Amino acid sequence: MKKNGILVVISGFSGAGKGTLVRKLMEKYDNYSLSVSMTTRDKRDGEEDGVHYFFVDHRKFEQTIIQDGLLEYASYCGNYYGTPKEYVEKQIAEGKDVILEIEVQGALQIKKKFPNTVLLFVTPPSADELINRLKGRNTESEEEIYRRVGRAIEEAEWIPKYDFLVINDDLDECVDSLHNIITTAHNAPGRQQDLIDKIKKELEVISKGE
Ligand code: 5GP
Repeated sequence: MKKNGILVVISGFSGAGKGTLVRKLMEKYDNYSLSVSMTTRDKRDGEEDGVHYFFVDHRKFEQTIIQDGLLEYASYCGNYYGTPKEYVEKQIAEGKDVILEIEVQGALQIKKKFPNTVLLFVTPPSADELINRLKGRNTESEEEIYRRVGRAIEEAEWIPKYDFLVINDDLDECVDSLHNIITTAHNAPGRQQDLIDKIKKELEVISKGE
């Protein structure tokens, strides 16, 4: 019996290092698939359409919502972001653990629809470190950085809704810690219902002496 994979949401403050973390996780272990989101935000230098995001205009995004093509979507700092449904469903059915790197509103929508989703929140060890990383990557204006800091304060309120908090201090340790959490999470009874049903049926057969 082929086992379905599980959905794993990774959220975190902008600048927490989620992108690097997820890339390293994918490189090191082969049981993961990464969902590529759709967004209306502008492409940054070095980003590729279909690799980092599917970059679309507002009209196309709204059409996809109407066609029920997204598992979740949210507005973040003035732009839409959403998770295309088809790819995720296919990968889960093929037994892959699918990583969604999304913000908190989307994470909570996903948990509501799919309660067996593992919600992970990544944070740097301190606020100073967060600001250093945001400034160091040189991809946002000063104004955008402060917008993202404001958003981080709001997001902090939602952390208790997550299943695990992961501190991204040493990158390699953090990657292994993420992998261990996800591997362990597979064994939660709610994620093993098929196995439980199978054993129960077998026990019933044995008890009838068949
Ligand atoms: P960025 O503009 O820095 O690439 O992403 C901004 C925020 O949007 C990040 O917190 C990122 O995790 C989140 N995000 C990316 N894709 C999605 C998505 O498909 N859905 C939701 N809800 N958030 C997303």
